[in-house]
Amino acid sequence: MISTTLFPGRYIQGADSIKRLGTELSRFGQKGFAICTPFFFEKRLPILQNDIQKVIRIKAEKFNRQCSDEEIDRLSSIAETQEADVIVGIGGGKTVDTAKAVAYKLNRPVAVVPTIASTDAPCSALSVIYTQTGSFKRYLMLPKNPDLVLVDTKIIAQAPARFIVSGMGDALATWFEAESCKTKYAKNMAGDLCSITAVALAELCYKTLIEYGHLATLACENHAITPALEHIVEANTLLSGLGFESGGLAAAHAIHNGLTVLEQTQNHFHGEKVAIGTLASLFLTDKPMDVINDVFSFCEAVGLPTTLGDIGLSDISDADLMKVAQSACKEGESIHNEPIPVTPEMVFYALKLTDAFGKKRQRKV
Ligand SMILES: [Zn+2]
Repeated sequence: MISTTLFPGRYIQGADSIKRLGTELSRFGQKGFAICTPFFFEKRLPILQNDIQKVIRIKAEKFNRQCSDEEIDRLSSIAETQEADVIVGIGGGKTVDTAKAVAYKLNRPVAVVPTIASTDAPCSALSVIYTQTGSFKRYLMLPKNPDLVLVDTKIIAQAPARFIVSGMGDALATWFEAESCKTKYAKNMAGDLCSITAVALAELCYKTLIEYGHLATLACENHAITPALEHIVEANTLLSGLGFESGGLAAAHAIHNGLTVLEQTQNHFHGEKVAIGTLASLFLTDKPMDVINDVFSFCEAVGLPTTLGDIGLSDISDADLMKVAQSACKEGESIHNEPIPVTPEMVFYALKLTDAFGKKRQRKV
């Protein structure tokens, strides 16, 4: 029995930490190639360029908003022409995933600078590749995690709060999924067992959300950088990243994947659908009432969805809900990492109960 635990090379977080970017990048060479989200490229990079250029020569290119094979090829050939020693991705999940894929293609180190805390993608050794029109194409499993992850909380606090809240939805699943994988002796993302380190980090992730989630949401809504905001950014990005990759996935993400088969959910973020998957997994796995109440209270406090209507499915038919359940239970889905045998009917009922329970609580508030 072998366990594997995956880590990024270095994780740096704090207000104004972006000012350290040049120095950090200079550890990898003398020329950098930055792939930037259009907003950052136009508004923030010109201000930072001078400071960065003092320590490393850096060329930047605007990301065209889609992590597609075509975009990865385009950016790789520019980076190669410029003989870049290190690739940097500055932006949201797709920008970051593209930078990771470009670095892999060119066999260069990669630094990741997320500008929102909406998913646990920055630390992972995985890129999600889409077609040019935005539908899911494939996962690209990378041979290593990013060499550097740098998170400037001042930048994160400027983004709409919905992003950090969605990140909490993604992070909420981490402990429940890792716990299930541990009990089942199921495989993590590296194909091995999870270590006690991964499980402990996943548990810390959950405790941090419950303790600081509400305050961090308020802080972000008011663009205030507070300890609670710092803790939640770390939970969403580092703890959740390590927790999911080294702890493993289970029902919550499989139900998320099932929900994506319905077009009505497309305007809702990954973490918002994962939150519904997590709530349904509580009923599916027969969690105690105090845990169920804690998780619903948390979701209500931070503004995560607690009913199907909250993710665009207010008038969903039983037939459509069954499609979600069947898709969540497809062969090879992570739902089968749960310690109990799971059928589509069980998932269907768990989703029904999530919706009913969420609505009942809303009526009482
Ligand atoms: Zn996720």
